[in-house]
Amino acid sequence: MCAIEAGKHGRRVAVLEHADRLGKKILISGGGRCNFTNIHCQPANFLSSNPHFAKSALARYTPADFVALVEKHRIPYHEKTLGQLFCDRSARDILEMLEEECRAAGVSVFLNTKIQEVSRPAEFIVRAANVEFQAPALVVATGGLSIPKIGATSFGYDLARQFGMNIREPWPGLVPLVLGADDRSRYCDLAGVSAEVIASCSGQHFREKMLITHRGLSGPAILQISSYWKKPQEIRIDLAPGSDVTATFDDPKTPRTLTTLRSEFRKTRPTRLADRWLDQHTPATWTNSALADFERQAHEWTITPAGTEGYEKAEVTAGGVDTGELSAKTMESRKVPGLFFIGEVVDVTGHLGGFNFQWAWASGVAAGRAV
Ligand SMILES: Cc1cc2nc3c(=O)[nH]c(=O)nc-3n(C[C@H](O)[C@H](O)[C@H](O)COP(=O)(O)OP(=O)(O)OC[C@H]3O[C@@H](n4cnc5c(N)ncnc54)[C@H](O)[C@@H]3O)c2cc1C
Repeated sequence: MCAIEAGKHGRRVAVLEHADRLGKKILISGGGRCNFTNIHCQPANFLSSNPHFAKSALARYTPADFVALVEKHRIPYHEKTLGQLFCDRSARDILEMLEEECRAAGVSVFLNTKIQEVSRPAEFIVRAANVEFQAPALVVATGGLSIPKIGATSFGYDLARQFGMNIREPWPGLVPLVLGADDRSRYCDLAGVSAEVIASCSGQHFREKMLITHRGLSGPAILQISSYWKKPQEIRIDLAPGSDVTATFDDPKTPRTLTTLRSEFRKTRPTRLADRWLDQHTPATWTNSALADFERQAHEWTITPAGTEGYEKAEVTAGGVDTGELSAKTMESRKVPGLFFIGEVVDVTGHLGGFNFQWAWASGVAAGRAV
């Protein structure tokens, strides 16, 4: 997006990519259908040490702007849920659209170009194995540390450090959580079971699906809350959001038995999860206070994850180049004129649902207009 915007403004642009093709992450995104934006995108959908930083770029390049580009290229798309826009066919449509826009803007793309060194005697000099580039402006769009097997590197952070810029310590975001040994042995044989829950941590909460995995928990609610979680914090999970599982016992005619409670819990929860939870939390007595305890526990499952599945499985890297180092309008370094950072390498991280791409597009356009 940055290259396209800069090319359209008459700049001579070279895109240097160390992989053998552009946009590999676009291709694997959204389960192969690329959740390319979210029509409800707001600054509140992003984590950053400075929650105001993303506002300017997001306001100047909106989801509607990207949708207009998608429609110009006649790419069929649909809203899946919660404002998330996906390709009908394949993520390849988005990548081909960007490549076509690059060609139209006269952008040169250099693949298999691993950058070895960057210096700045006067202009920037970027050295790769057999080639050297010189330019008055350098835009770093090298992403975060997530999914190293498709080419993620720490290059962006290393370069920022080389130029004396501060980094907010990165951590894996939108990542499955690994449960401690006890909870693993209690629940993980239910791998594949999913249920709507509310997951809460650090003053944030998300009401979406949770999925039990072989090692812990995943699914949208867990991925979302994982970005806010730091070891050894607790995460609270409401396993029965909005429902009052024990309300039936208010009727004195209802028999106070495990069978009744089981059948009530199964009405709103998957059977295997309801049964396992009851096995683990069988009320010791059938007094009102024991039932109230059961109700409270079901709404407040408190877990202390042993960790996350790490960068191998994380959809994003939170943290990154400190926003205090950059102009919010142009993404240019305050200390090093001509040096820009955009996309995931910056300490701006979106929620699940198309927000990370919207940030990549918007920050890219902001820099592209300024170089
Ligand atoms: C499995 C998965 C699914 C996702 N799905 C979605 C989704 O549906 N919607 C959404 O909004 N977000 C999604 N994301 C997040 C989204 O893909 C990223 O936030 C986004 O791609 C960031 O864009 P970027 O341009 O900053 O970095 P990237 O897309 O990571 O691009 C960085 C590029 O720099 C190249 N590079 C790295 N180091 C060097 C180097 N030293 N020299 C030269 N080139 C280098 C890389 O090869 C790569 O092509 C997903 C992420 C993953 C991992």
